[in-house]
Amino acid sequence: MSLPAAARLTIDLDALARNYRQLRDLAPGAEAAPVVKADGYGLGAAQIASRLWAEGARSFFVARLAEGEALRTALGAARPARILVLDGLIPGTEARFKAANLVPVLSSMPQIEAATALAGQGTLECALQVDTGMYRQGLPMEQTKALVQAGDRLSHLKIDLIMSHLGSATLPDDPRNRAQLEAFREVRQMFPEAKASLAASAGIFLGPDYRFDLVRPGISLYGGGPEERPDPRLQAVATFTAPLLAIRHVPAGSTIGYGPSMVVDRPSRVGLVGAGYADGLIRAAKGKSQAWVDGGLCRVLIVTMDLIVIDLEDAEVQVGDWVEFMGRNVALDDLASAAGTVAHECLVRLNRAERIYRGEA
Ligand SMILES: *Cc1c(COP(=O)(O)O)cnc(C)c1O
Repeated sequence: MSLPAAARLTIDLDALARNYRQLRDLAPGAEAAPVVKADGYGLGAAQIASRLWAEGARSFFVARLAEGEALRTALGAARPARILVLDGLIPGTEARFKAANLVPVLSSMPQIEAATALAGQGTLECALQVDTGMYRQGLPMEQTKALVQAGDRLSHLKIDLIMSHLGSATLPDDPRNRAQLEAFREVRQMFPEAKASLAASAGIFLGPDYRFDLVRPGISLYGGGPEERPDPRLQAVATFTAPLLAIRHVPAGSTIGYGPSMVVDRPSRVGLVGAGYADGLIRAAKGKSQAWVDGGLCRVLIVTMDLIVIDLEDAEVQVGDWVEFMGRNVALDDLASAAGTVAHECLVRLNRAERIYRGEA
């Protein structure tokens, strides 16, 4: 019997499109600008953006300049999207921004100076990110106020979009959400001409106050729930499967894999599966995450670099069957919590498996 070669990451572009429409419906009146950083959360920025362009998306966010350049090439001249780069304008990269027609998201005074220099005597389209209380990226509130008061420092910048990012949007009751919202309203008044954007995926679900003119969904496009658990309004986009390579019987009291940690307390029937942490599955999920095979869930016993052992119990399986580790039957958010991380990290790591696209391109 010939075995299927290797682990597969199947990406359902129709499910992606349904999630996009769902998010748009949740934020009526706002533009929904997909976040496709880190190669579309590991699912292929070119394919993701192409399908979402067909669904009507016209602005996209990436993190790095090189991601923006690659996306510009992938979309080509026929699809002149607005591509915003969250890293902003790093001094020395001005020519590349110009060549690929990318919009920098400015987050610091040196970036604002670099953008002003690049604008020269003309004007440069850019976005401005203000820190309203996450203390990560963004121009601090005080500096933003000073900048606006000094008016002339912005005269060559066409700030079309002001944005900020929420630190606790996955926790709807956290008072930091309201505090950031209030601060962002203040910022908005300082830039009456610009469109405003506060919500990433989870923020969209916080309610109408948070949606403003543009929303920036990332993980929810790819099926991750707003509160780090599965949400019935969103569909699985990524399915990770790998072939069952062998079935073994293990006596009670045996130790499986490296080191002493995985001891079976009863005679066990286990399955060896052709995927591992080198495919991006997180080793720390062993013992806690589940795999789907033959219509039922099995416990994942150990995760090594290229092989995983699962507890088959009495599942009626054969060598060559496919085992699902993430997808319609094993929710992305459940895998993430078993691994002690967030859905975002589970997706971006899946970079060895063969990618297969389903649905309309
Ligand atoms: C990554 C990112 C997003 C998207 O976040 P999700 O939680 O994946 O929706 C939006 N805005 C900014 C500034 C980001 O860095």
